[in-house]
Amino acid sequence: MSESIGFIGLGQMGLPMAKNLLKKGYNVFGFDTNPTAMSELQSFGGNVGKIEDWVYNVQFILLMLPSSTIVNKVLHEILDAHTFDKHIQQDSLMIIDMSSSYPSDTKKNNRILENHHISFIDAPVSGGVKKAIDGSLTVMAGGTAEQFERSKRLLGALGRNLFHVGPIGSGHLMKAINNFLSATHLLASCEAIQLLAAYEVHPEQAIHVINQSTGRSGSTEYKFPNFILNEEYNSGFSLDLLRKDVEMAKQLFAERNAATHLPELVFEKFNEASQVLAKGADHTEINRFVSTYLLK
Ligand code: NAD
Repeated sequence: MSESIGFIGLGQMGLPMAKNLLKKGYNVFGFDTNPTAMSELQSFGGNVGKIEDWVYNVQFILLMLPSSTIVNKVLHEILDAHTFDKHIQQDSLMIIDMSSSYPSDTKKNNRILENHHISFIDAPVSGGVKKAIDGSLTVMAGGTAEQFERSKRLLGALGRNLFHVGPIGSGHLMKAINNFLSATHLLASCEAIQLLAAYEVHPEQAIHVINQSTGRSGSTEYKFPNFILNEEYNSGFSLDLLRKDVEMAKQLFAERNAATHLPELVFEKFNEASQVLAKGADHTEINRFVSTYLLK
């Protein structure tokens, strides 16, 4: 019999990931506060419904939610539903938080779930909506070696590069710092390309040259050609979610009294941009915000 998976958070990332599980033959039970997302999963062959209606049926629950605050709330909802049923076999459930959450919250959640004999790991992802759709995400997991082994087949249905980074919380730590780098590259690239344009180097030419040179990054190789130069700004990753990741990274540097201003500076720009740009703006629209301050 195929394994059954609960999937909570069917947004830009979660929906294509849940669809991939269905394609690979898993039984999927989905929940999202947005009914449209649930209907979409259902029309693709998934089961949908409230957590308490399917929590007894699943071996794994995957979370793909916007923030730690929401993850914390949903975990309590799972616990309410789970402890309600006395028939559930102890140690039979594993919860995997694939959202980009705070590592400290992840460690706290692990302690709570351990007390309920529920196995918990963090396994956030990188690669964006495109890789979520084609099942080639990079997955960075935190937990024990045994937990990683147990989750590997399932995670392999969603991603191509699976990494066990370290103990619980390490995946979320890795992800926050990865996204700080990605945000920094993006911001610096937007400033650089706009500066070059002011010196009359055409942006397309500038990106072409940089991509054959040492200044290149994921921003110049992928984001500029696909979402920025064509002014479509439709990567599927919101500015607000990246702002959250940079804030998390800023906090992680501060907790270690790191002697750097860079996280603070990058956060400041993303934070200001999120106040100026329309609600729901794509993270690549930071380019628009850069044009408001860079060259007066
Ligand atoms: P999203 O906003 O598109 O999706 C989040 C989903 O969670 C929405 O459908 C929302 O309705 C649902 N939700 C909110 N509160 C809920 C609740 N209490 N119970 C059930 N469902 C609830 O976000 P996304 O872009 O899919 O990102 C999800 C996570 O993945 C975030 O942590 C983000 O930082 C991370 N991430 C996103 C990308 C990307 O490219 N979009 C890439 C890597 C990681």
